[in-house]
Amino acid sequence: MADPHHDAPLDFDTLAVRAGIERSQFNEHSEAMYLTSSFVFDNAAQAAARFAGEEPGNVYARFTNPTVSAMQTRLAALEGGEACIATASGMAALLATVMALLKAGDHVVASQGLFGSSQQLFTNVFGKFGVDTTFVPATDLAAYEVAMRPETRLVFLETPSNPLTELIDIATVAEIAHRHDALLVVDNCFCTPALQRPLALGADIVIHSATKYLDGQGRVLGGAVVGNAVLMEEVFRFLRTAGPCLSPFNAWVILKGLETLKLRMEAQSANALRLAQWLEAQPWVARVYYPGLPSHPQFDLAQRQQSLPGAIVSFDVIGARPEAWRLVDATRMVSITANLGDTKTTLTHPASTTHGRISAEARAASGIGESLLRVAVGLESVEDIQADLARWLTV
Ligand SMILES: *Cc1c(COP(=O)(O)O)cnc(C)c1O
Repeated sequence: MADPHHDAPLDFDTLAVRAGIERSQFNEHSEAMYLTSSFVFDNAAQAAARFAGEEPGNVYARFTNPTVSAMQTRLAALEGGEACIATASGMAALLATVMALLKAGDHVVASQGLFGSSQQLFTNVFGKFGVDTTFVPATDLAAYEVAMRPETRLVFLETPSNPLTELIDIATVAEIAHRHDALLVVDNCFCTPALQRPLALGADIVIHSATKYLDGQGRVLGGAVVGNAVLMEEVFRFLRTAGPCLSPFNAWVILKGLETLKLRMEAQSANALRLAQWLEAQPWVARVYYPGLPSHPQFDLAQRQQSLPGAIVSFDVIGARPEAWRLVDATRMVSITANLGDTKTTLTHPASTTHGRISAEARAASGIGESLLRVAVGLESVEDIQADLARWLTV
């Protein structure tokens, strides 16, 4: 989207509130929500032309819907991609990407420590259809090179990782993937385009769980795939046939969420930095994991790759599960839930929830111990969050 007066590309801040607007005959100011599953044609010839794809326009909401299209245009603009395909959830975004672009016999290299359902999709679902995945230690760049095979078509990353906030150097992995004729796909859920633009760093595709920060207020499920027009046409073909598309209602909620995305990410990241610094000074905290602290092993990469460190802070309490659970149980304000990306702060004990199905040995090997807690920092006052996390010391 260009500035009509100067033809210069518009700023992120402007695109977040204006990209994708197409007014109807009613000249509405706020984006309209089109709750319709199908569309009517002026005559038989137009119906035929629309179905044949010879005339642009909507046919059926599994294919396109104006509200969904507006959200797609806006998110594509924010990620700096040519096109975006919205999906019913973040998992549907990964499903559509792999089903559209890979076939039996193809191989995937993925970083270890992916979101649990992503890991299971690669292992239990794609594996059944002949697409094998090799998982490599997330930060070991040489391991990606070693894992590449002649049939590797896709490299998949999540950075920062959950819950330990490990960073992967996107530009370096993009170079490795491209040298082997593979596509690089990055799950940009934790940073969002407000803090990190993987396409500009060399990734081919970004996927999102829009359920998290893009909506930002815990209201709807949604997902998205962003990339160049050729790749997105393939994803679109899969989606319109298979059906896990985004509802216009959810698209509208996410579209409006995008308008405040950067403000929320900046405020939540600032809160998270202050919380991380405070945690690091507490005598009952053994270790803090946060890319904005100089103690983070990849502090320099975080400064280069992200505009801000993000809103996820993890820490080990001194002790084990009993101490971690006491801290959780003493809170009165933060939400005890595994979800994240909300304006409300959430608190999770990964070893007994999100990572509970992994064996204790595998968990220990990946550094997710019994004393680890993850905070997805929201918009509350940081003093109130601190008081809540320290309540267990006095009850
Ligand atoms: C939540 C999440 C997903 C899955 O998204 P849904 O919208 O729940 O399907 C994928 N990746 C990451 C990193 C997530 O946090």
